[in-house]
Amino acid sequence: MQTVLTPERADAVPPARSLGPQFRLILQGGLVLAMLAAVLASFIFTNTQRRTLIDLREGGRQVRIAQEAVADAAAHVFHRAFGPDDGSGSLQARALETLRVRKQEYAAVLAPVLEAAGDADGATVLLDRLDSTWREAIDLIQAGRRGEAQALLAQRRATIASDGLHAATDAFLAQLNGQFTAYENRIEAGTLSVMGFQVLIGVLMLLAVLSAAREAQGRAAAIAEATSSRRQVKRLFDMTDMLQSAANHLDANAVLRATAGELIPGLGGALYVFNNSRDRLTLSTSWDIPAERSLPAMIGLDQCWALKRGKPHRNGAAGLGLCCEHHVPGSTLVEIPMIARGEILGLLQIFADGPEAEARVTAASPLGLAMADAMSLALSNLSLREKLRNQALRDPLTGLYNRRYMEDSLDRFVRLAERENRRLAVIMIDLDHFKRLNDEHGHATGDAVLREAAGAIVGALRETDVACRYGGEEMIVLMPDCDLENAADKAEVIRQRIEALSGQRGATVSASFGVSSIPATASGTTDLVRSADAALYKAKQAGRNRVDIAPLRSGRKDGPVAPRLQAVMLDAAE
Ligand code: GH3
Ligand code: MG
Ligand code: MG
Repeated sequence: MQTVLTPERADAVPPARSLGPQFRLILQGGLVLAMLAAVLASFIFTNTQRRTLIDLREGGRQVRIAQEAVADAAAHVFHRAFGPDDGSGSLQARALETLRVRKQEYAAVLAPVLEAAGDADGATVLLDRLDSTWREAIDLIQAGRRGEAQALLAQRRATIASDGLHAATDAFLAQLNGQFTAYENRIEAGTLSVMGFQVLIGVLMLLAVLSAAREAQGRAAAIAEATSSRRQVKRLFDMTDMLQSAANHLDANAVLRATAGELIPGLGGALYVFNNSRDRLTLSTSWDIPAERSLPAMIGLDQCWALKRGKPHRNGAAGLGLCCEHHVPGSTLVEIPMIARGEILGLLQIFADGPEAEARVTAASPLGLAMADAMSLALSNLSLREKLRNQALRDPLTGLYNRRYMEDSLDRFVRLAERENRRLAVIMIDLDHFKRLNDEHGHATGDAVLREAAGAIVGALRETDVACRYGGEEMIVLMPDCDLENAADKAEVIRQRIEALSGQRGATVSASFGVSSIPATASGTTDLVRSADAALYKAKQAGRNRVDIAPLRSGRKDGPVAPRLQAVMLDAAE
């Protein structure tokens, strides 16, 4: 049995290898986690920078406050010493007091400023020096010694250079400003990277969702395909099962048509099987073929590439490429030879029309192959069964039915004739001088003559007649629904046909005939055969190579007896 899916195998492309879904999931999850870590790190970094910037700004503000507190105290003292003595310096009156109270605090704030300015003494020394000088000056002023206070301030000008502090603070704050910019830049970069990573996470998540959706879609498609394949396999099993019960070709064809209609709907098909002489294929059945397309009734073995090669063959609609001789352009079809036990049994054709016909036919080919396989086995079984039945029913030399079959059929025909008042005739035939023929020409020639005589008999009969080998060179023909006269006529035709075999092998061939019928000359099975045999005996006695008819039963007449038959009967009676 063939199992080669030739066209499909040629077209088959191995599926692209892809990453396993689990691996892809782990990769995507890992990437998302990495991105989240990056977002977190960027966020922490940005926050730290922001906090440091705030601290720096606050530090700068504190420096400016301290510096202004010093400036306010200086302004107060200088106003008291050098300004108009009209009490207008009361605005800064508390400045000196504040400076004294918060000296430690201001010293701590201003320490880095003075360090940056290279003042080795430091802020505490400076503030102490300022405080003590200004206190002395205020004491002198309060004692009414303003001039001395002015002299003191002028004298210690170098050591209480609060202007210097002002300049140092400005320089310090300018330097701090530079740092602000650097921090602001870092904060901006950090914020941007947080946003960037967030966008990346979003994109990754979107991709993951899309790929999950695609995978789900793929899984759904795979499940649908698996379901469809399971259904097809089940249907093919059903087909094989039903074919087991097919009693004949008609049954098998019905199963094939039903299966094809279900498995490859919309595509037409045809089945060709070998004729008896196995020299050509005849159309056995077809389905879904448009009325305007006529399928050839016969396909010669040399007209079909699928049969010549023993492989499926595709004929295109345009008739291009290698097309079979029997192919009628206009339709696309794939032809699958049906082979079982090494023997080609037939041809399955699948047709498609319209757009994408080639693709549809190609897609249907595997199912066509499976159906052809099942069908070829069924056909093989049917022909095997037929052979066995023939062996049981037929005589191997002549191909005529054997005596057992004759007896069964005769019983059946007689019962039918009696019950339904129908006629039944038999012709008993015996080849003349056959012993002599064997002796003179050999047994093989005798066999050949027997076969040819059998052919001559069958060739003269109706489909419903049954020709049997009764034994040796004796044959009997059962003719249901045939009256005595027609049976006698048929016997005469056969006699002439057998006589015509003479000379073919250098031998004279003839036969004698005894005809009997129900109800004209006999009433039952035994009577019918016996009377035919008796008529045959008479024919032999009367010189052979002639037809004799059994005598009519008393008072019976099988319809109007023709003058010619009447003459024969009279002749027989003599
Ligand atoms: P008659 O005209 O009286 O019938 O003479 P006959 O020789 O035909 O009759 P007979 O019954 O004496 O001989 C029948 C012969 O037929 C004998 C037998 O050798 C031959 N015969 C029977 N069956 C076969 C067969 O299968 N093959 C061959 N070659 N001969 C057969
Ligand atoms: Mg004989
Ligand atoms: Mg005989």
